[in-house]
Amino acid sequence: MQSKLGQLLESLRAFWVQESHVRQALPLVVPLATLAAWFIFGEIGLLICAFLLPLPFLAFSPFSESSKRRGRSETDGLTGLLTSTGLEHKMQDKMATLEHDGRVTACFSIKIDNFARLRENHGDQAAEDVLRNVANRLKSALRSDDMVARSGDAAFVVALAPVAYFDVESGIQMATRFQTALEEPVPLQMASIYVSVSVGFCLSSRLSRPTATALIQASEMAMNEAQLTGASNIRAYSTDMGRKVISRRKTQSEAARTLQRDQIRAWFQPQVSTDTGLVTGFEALARWEHPERGILAPIQFLDVLQQTGQMSQLADLMLRQSLGALRAWDDAGYSVPVVGVNFAGEELRSPTLVERIQWELDRTELLPARLGIEVLESVVAGAPDDMVVRNLEAISALGCSVDLDDFGTGHASISSIRRLPVKRIKIDRSFVTNVDRDQEQQRMIAAIVTMAERLGLETLAEGVENSAEHAMLAQLGCSHVQGYGIARPMPFHETLKWMAAHQEKIGPALQIGNKPS
Ligand code: C2E
Ligand code: CA
Ligand code: CA
Repeated sequence: MQSKLGQLLESLRAFWVQESHVRQALPLVVPLATLAAWFIFGEIGLLICAFLLPLPFLAFSPFSESSKRRGRSETDGLTGLLTSTGLEHKMQDKMATLEHDGRVTACFSIKIDNFARLRENHGDQAAEDVLRNVANRLKSALRSDDMVARSGDAAFVVALAPVAYFDVESGIQMATRFQTALEEPVPLQMASIYVSVSVGFCLSSRLSRPTATALIQASEMAMNEAQLTGASNIRAYSTDMGRKVISRRKTQSEAARTLQRDQIRAWFQPQVSTDTGLVTGFEALARWEHPERGILAPIQFLDVLQQTGQMSQLADLMLRQSLGALRAWDDAGYSVPVVGVNFAGEELRSPTLVERIQWELDRTELLPARLGIEVLESVVAGAPDDMVVRNLEAISALGCSVDLDDFGTGHASISSIRRLPVKRIKIDRSFVTNVDRDQEQQRMIAAIVTMAERLGLETLAEGVENSAEHAMLAQLGCSHVQGYGIARPMPFHETLKWMAAHQEKIGPALQIGNKPS
């Protein structure tokens, strides 16, 4: 009964929206019809007409949902695009007639990956320029009857004009087209900025009741899924996404409280010398040891810690556990020269960072040279702010080493690297994968190693997954390697067993002077 009434109202709304001449004629029709009713049926007719005729106005226009939204801002001041309210309002009319016309539409939700980091690294002005640039490119990638809105700080929504046929394959093609257009470098005054975007989309045919709001929300849900699996991804909406989102929200609200519960631990991944095979260090990587869901990787909780302002607690915890591990390796008689700890951009800006590091080193009575600080290349790209430079200089003056992480993805200029006290670059996994078979990869690694040598920097290749890659990296002159091919990150207690087995393995090789593969 309720759905019949809903259908009737929907058909009336469609008729109302579609037949605009009826709407325009109403101001004339209402008084004439009222007079006629009075003339024919007397006062009863007059009363009925006077009450019934204004109803379509009440139902569909002045107090309807879409016109309530008209009160809110419909244009975004920065990009000149519609806001999501404006878009929903404009979509409403088209959505109402979709079924009637036998056509489909699709919504695409597009978000710039790591925009907060981009703003942090390049400043507000550059971030705004990027947004304007992306908005213009998006407009150019669309047909004139498609619509686009800015729906959040770095998020956009595209609604396609209804068409007779549009399937998931067409959606993926279109999403790829958006990515190609938006991922071109954005030229700014000082440097080019590289952005990647994640895209989620939903076809109207996927929803049982495809209203504008539902379609936009479904595409946003798909985009959030896309971003969870890494940058520059595409996802189509599916009905089980809603359930996943609920379970993830639970995880996130727990994550905000988890540091206090002591469930986040440092796991360790070894780094070895390509020359001797000896362990030259361990990198500390955060893991949430969840009592029910098992071991969770940083991608599942770092964002929440960041949003809830807990990154400095995480850094303290990782620092304490890493230095504790060093002490324990020393006590067990294993030689681990350095432990590397990751520091996020905002942490490197903390005015108390150096003091906290010094205090932890004093407490554990370890030499500062035993601690390495891993800094993302993107943090120091362009013009790193003064606080970051000062902190890194002070950390290096203490005697700790600085590694430039994910090298090759952050577009740091040679001059910004030279300005900083970097000791080693960690070549990103994207250059390492298949390096044994792919000549282009070999050329890239050779170029990076040559540059590093000229600058007096050591190199470490990340993400080395097998012995063929390991051997090729050694040949290309890369001095350290790290990756699943050597060992996966492991909890502290497993490192002791692993060290024993590793020493056993390389012992004989070292004695006869061979390089391990
Ligand atoms: P990262 O610093 O680049 O760390 C290396 C990542 O690559 C780790 O992912 C590691 O598990 C993974 N990995 C290592 N070898 C291989 C391999 O051979 N193949 C593949 N496919 N992956 C490999 P994980 O632990 O998920 O960490 C992801 C990122 O989270 C880290 O990237 C780092 O940026 C961040 N992170 C981890 N722990 C911390 C922390 O304590 N503080 C901060 N600020 N960031 C952290
Ligand atoms: Ca790292
Ligand atoms: Ca890395």
